[in-house]
Amino acid sequence: MLAMNYRGPLRVRIDQKPMPEILHPQDAIVRVTRSCICGSDLHLYNGSVPDTRVGMTFGHEFTGIVEEIGSEVTKVKVGDHVLVPFNIACGQCVFCKQEMYGNCHESNPQATAVGGIFGYSHTAGGYNGGQAEYVRVPYANVGPTIIPEGMDPDDAVLLTDVVPTGYQAAEMGGIQPGDTVVVFGAGPVGIMAAKCSWLFGAGRVIIIDEVEYRLEFAKNYAQCEAYNFREFGDPAVFIKKQTDWLGADVCIDAVGAEAAGNALQTITGRKLLIQAGSATALHWAINCVKKGGVVSIVGVYGPTDNLVPIGNVLNKGLTIRANQASVKRLLPRLIEHVQNGVLNPKGLITHRIPLEEVSDAYRMFSEKLDNCIKPVLIP
Ligand code: NAD
Ligand code: ZN
Repeated sequence: MLAMNYRGPLRVRIDQKPMPEILHPQDAIVRVTRSCICGSDLHLYNGSVPDTRVGMTFGHEFTGIVEEIGSEVTKVKVGDHVLVPFNIACGQCVFCKQEMYGNCHESNPQATAVGGIFGYSHTAGGYNGGQAEYVRVPYANVGPTIIPEGMDPDDAVLLTDVVPTGYQAAEMGGIQPGDTVVVFGAGPVGIMAAKCSWLFGAGRVIIIDEVEYRLEFAKNYAQCEAYNFREFGDPAVFIKKQTDWLGADVCIDAVGAEAAGNALQTITGRKLLIQAGSATALHWAINCVKKGGVVSIVGVYGPTDNLVPIGNVLNKGLTIRANQASVKRLLPRLIEHVQNGVLNPKGLITHRIPLEEVSDAYRMFSEKLDNCIKPVLIP
């Protein structure tokens, strides 16, 4: 079968790989119909996730047709069109029982933190992902969800990650009616977080990025204010001016580790006062939020990144909440939101690209070319 193949930092290509096989009675083999590239894949692509092995196939946001099932699979049958949450979850462990499906113990027993994730290095279990014609789906009685009749597969594929992650970002913020919410990062996740903030009663939603076309897109899609951080010096001063010098009620980090790259860039001609290896957006979020406020982190960091200015957190009395999204927990209400037209996930998809062109697709998404917001690969 054809599959994306990681060759090292900034090098991915399409290759022939062996067909995946059923390895456990609860496995299913799925023939992929849609498979997105995510900002999380860019951490892998950039080589910043430990133990990302050459030869791995990425891809944790996919839909597909069930092609084959193991002897213990009862929840889906051959021929079903399913969406598959990015978390690989056993459904039985102490964390899954609490609906912490992103922290499943069984799917990644070596790790102390994250559960298994499709196509996300050996730190997340070493599973191959869905940027391929076929993929092995473990615990097929837990994750795969039949796409409801009438739902557009382009909507369904974004229910595997972007929608639940954006929604959980807003949820973890504990937004109260009338709150001012500031979202860092106008990628698909940040835009969805901005959109979902309204569902929790936000009174004002501001998104911050540096990529103009993304800010324009966010303004229209999420009906929020959008600002380019290159146009003002310190976001904390800017946000305080906007909020009677109090700060935002809730700040959301939808950037993650790559913001460290900004350390080498300049803002309004000045070098940022941040050491390489720190996280600009996270620091900004902590500085922009008011005393007693909440910082909600969905941007992804490496397992041992050590970036929180804890003195600021302590002295401001902040609450920090962070996690991988628990997709299965959120799916029922999010499916309803899509069916009722409250959310329009497919509106984020700007590019449909044949799987064969995976290498160009990564470059476009990574370098923010051609006004790309969300690319979906079609095998
Ligand atoms: P993306 O790369 O498309 O978007 C990130 C955006 O952040 C870009 O537009 C970039 O210009 C902007 N940015 C960079 N530095 C910034 C800064 N200092 N301030 C403000 N904006 C800045 O990625 P995405 O797909 O939207 O994903 C966003 C983050 O969410 C990634 O870290 C990804 O790994 C993470 N993620 C987490 C989960 C989860 O479950 N927690 C799920 C999916 C994605
Ligand atoms: Zn993703």
